[in-house]
Amino acid sequence: MTAFRNVTESTRLIHGEALCDRLQRTPGPPIHRGSTILLDSCEQVYDPSLVTYGRVGLTTQRSLRDALRDLEHADEAFIYPSGLAAITATLSALLASGDEVLACDSVYNPTRRYLAGTLARFGVTARYFAPTTDVAAIKAMITPATKLIFLESPGSNTFEMQDIPAIARMARAMGVMTAVDNTWSSGVLFKPLDHGVDVSIQSLTKYVCGHSDVFMGLAAASGTAVELLAKSSNETGWAVSPDDAYLALRGLRTLHPRLARHGASALKIAQWLAEQPEVHTVLCPALPQDPGHAIWQRNYSDICGLFSIVLNPVADAAVRQMLESLSLFGLGYSWGGFESLILPCDPQLAVRTCSGKFAGPLLRIHVGLEDPSDLIADLRHGLDQLSRHRAAMARSGQKY
Ligand SMILES: *Cc1c(COP(=O)(O)O)cnc(C)c1O
Repeated sequence: MTAFRNVTESTRLIHGEALCDRLQRTPGPPIHRGSTILLDSCEQVYDPSLVTYGRVGLTTQRSLRDALRDLEHADEAFIYPSGLAAITATLSALLASGDEVLACDSVYNPTRRYLAGTLARFGVTARYFAPTTDVAAIKAMITPATKLIFLESPGSNTFEMQDIPAIARMARAMGVMTAVDNTWSSGVLFKPLDHGVDVSIQSLTKYVCGHSDVFMGLAAASGTAVELLAKSSNETGWAVSPDDAYLALRGLRTLHPRLARHGASALKIAQWLAEQPEVHTVLCPALPQDPGHAIWQRNYSDICGLFSIVLNPVADAAVRQMLESLSLFGLGYSWGGFESLILPCDPQLAVRTCSGKFAGPLLRIHVGLEDPSDLIADLRHGLDQLSRHRAAMARSGQKY
């Protein structure tokens, strides 16, 4: 730092050596922090082809975006500070006042909240269709104002499959865009953009980050949607920290083997649950009796660790007791981490307008990376509690 030998210490502390050009090579990218990007010439200051400001992301974010773009078979990938931010950014990028969205009734609840809140306030209307495989029913709802069909397959908490290739084909022919919340597949089990979908959205918080400790979202797009998302990102200023981008990239390294383990254990546990007398139905498209099985088999390479069960009708207090008695299944929101979770979902289903009703309480299960035999033992213990409760009720002559 001979250039700074003749300046005072306070200046030297500001301009002293930064080791940017002496980076050692590591398997992962550097965590590259920076808001200001130092430019080499005055021409560069206003060169639109250069990244001139750190908000759009430096090396670390660009490495992640490239990896996600390739994962989703997209032209470009945009990252956001949460999965919900990716959803709201996509909706606001693609829609304008006077437009209408058709959305799947089993869509993630906060998606519905944004449509009913901010977007309604900005003059966008939303109508919902039953989470059906019936493409003609969706086509019949399209009006000249319809700009976007928002899909989620399998649906949140209830796992109904939609025929995404058929819906995307129909929508494209009608001049309507499509977006899919692809979080369940992690971009590994299903590639929406290969089937004509315009935007594939993921909560990277789930399997990509994979350790229940990072929030991040993805919108991967092809064609005209890329322009709209780029413009919107530039206008709204979403930024992801390089530390979080690093963690998401680290998660991607092990995504395939983790998903294989989550999926194999989930299938084993779903099959076991389907045989248990306290369980009315297992909502999992990998089971042959599931109404979405044929579509899942055609388009998805596997399942992840997330599915639901419907219990036979039973008192709420007994369900609460059962859930609180489990030792390996934590009670909590989110999923996609290494650990198993369980969540009662009935309050979340109450906002739906055109979905079926279920016979009893609905519990969402996330199968983690633990040994599936230990997880089955934990669930058996919980279901035994329900059976004991039911037997005691019967002895006292009470019914549900
Ligand atoms: C969790 C989730 C989101 C939201 O992701 P966050 O990162 O928690 O904001 C969106 N869609 C689906 C299907 C989810 O499960």
